[in-house]
Amino acid sequence: MPERHAVVAGAGIGGLTAAIALHRRGWHVTVCERAPEAPVTGAGIGLAPNALRALDTIGVDAVRATGSAIPVTMGVRRSAGQWLTRTGTADMAARYGIAPIAVPRPAFTAALAAALPPGTIRYGTAVTAVDDAGNRPIVRTEAGPDLPADLVVAADGIHSPLRRAHFPGHPGLNYLGETAWRALVDAPDLRIPAMSETWGRGQRFGVTPLSDGRYYLYATAVVPAGTRSADARAELRERFGTWHDPIPALLDRVGRLDPADVLQNDLYELAAPLPRLHHGRIAWLGDAAHAMAPNLGQGGCQAIEDAVVLAHLLPAGSRVGGAGGADGDRTDSADCVPAALAAYTAARRDRTDAVRLRARRVGRLGALRHPLAAAARDLAVRATPTRLALRGMDDLFNGFRLPG
Ligand SMILES: Cc1cc2nc3c(=O)[nH]c(=O)nc-3n(C[C@H](O)[C@H](O)[C@H](O)COP(=O)(O)OP(=O)(O)OC[C@H]3O[C@@H](n4cnc5c(N)ncnc54)[C@H](O)[C@@H]3O)c2cc1C
Repeated sequence: MPERHAVVAGAGIGGLTAAIALHRRGWHVTVCERAPEAPVTGAGIGLAPNALRALDTIGVDAVRATGSAIPVTMGVRRSAGQWLTRTGTADMAARYGIAPIAVPRPAFTAALAAALPPGTIRYGTAVTAVDDAGNRPIVRTEAGPDLPADLVVAADGIHSPLRRAHFPGHPGLNYLGETAWRALVDAPDLRIPAMSETWGRGQRFGVTPLSDGRYYLYATAVVPAGTRSADARAELRERFGTWHDPIPALLDRVGRLDPADVLQNDLYELAAPLPRLHHGRIAWLGDAAHAMAPNLGQGGCQAIEDAVVLAHLLPAGSRVGGAGGADGDRTDSADCVPAALAAYTAARRDRTDAVRLRARRVGRLGALRHPLAAAARDLAVRATPTRLALRGMDDLFNGFRLPG
């Protein structure tokens, strides 16, 4: 059987997971990443049970790779501190078989990269185009020789140049009306036993303890796109400095960070679903395919699900061996790649679009600015029994399935 070669554009969470999953199915994989090197700074990311289960199926133990899950209370608070709703990681573990974890992003992507054979990732290699006119797409890069491939995975993020090139009629991105700040702070002395998101009027502040004693903080505010202050640390203190404990103490730590370590991103989503998640032998995944508001903490989780499902549907590569590869029931013809990609669209498009729309709805609730509307929202959340609220997450957290 000829060796099958996949080129992955982008070494984010989605691209790296796809590379691992394809490698484990016997494909030869090259990852082209525009950035000159692996990220060493960055914020945190929450990995929900659905993503952890997807990673399990390809043998990646994210918890072991990046620290341990820590038992905490988790829920939503008001700016004065009252809990509107709360549960615990133990309840989540009991319901979903595995508790969500939060990890420093650079450590998580480093752990994913370490699961690939040395030399798989080419940093400083921006993909400029994919010529898919023939039977074997040719990946053009800024840095080096063209790369012929049997499959191209477009994991090039929310602004995906490949999405814009291959879906020219798509309306692109939609500004969600909010900006978000993220930071990691060292504060082992604070011993905060809760993962919380606090809602004010048009502003939110999230606190997530990490197992290494640090805290992943995020905050959002309703502002016109492109609004930037001279010093994000001072702006955060001004906006959230009077909110409940331990937010002021955490903002003190933010004040000690290098200004560059406070990340700020305006929030965008894909304005409409892509008509399909593939084109010829190119498959889109993650933010490139379905960028969504971060309110459910599912953008990266869905990228992981995409990657695992995609590799599962593709024919096995030669290293897995034998006609049909590991599964035995797959034809080994390279020509089954387009059919596998059509099956990938069928398996993933509706789920990811439903999550995108749901994340948008949750974001709108969190961004309410009118005092009466915010008060009614808080009342409704407070009146919803925790078990009912958790049940509402079942389709997300239990929704990862490998197509049969
Ligand atoms: C404030 C905020 C909080 C979030 N919190 C969570 C959370 O808790 N949980 C969660 O699951 N998700 C969360 N998300 C969403 C999550 O960050 C994204 O959904 C996720 O990073 C998408 O992964 P990706 O691999 O698709 O894209 P990216 O992580 O954006 O990776 C794309 C990669 O492609 C590279 N690239 C771009 N163009 C090219 C090119 N031409 N050639 C080569 N490489 C290229 C980029 O440099 C980048 O490395 C959050 C998002 C935000 C903004």
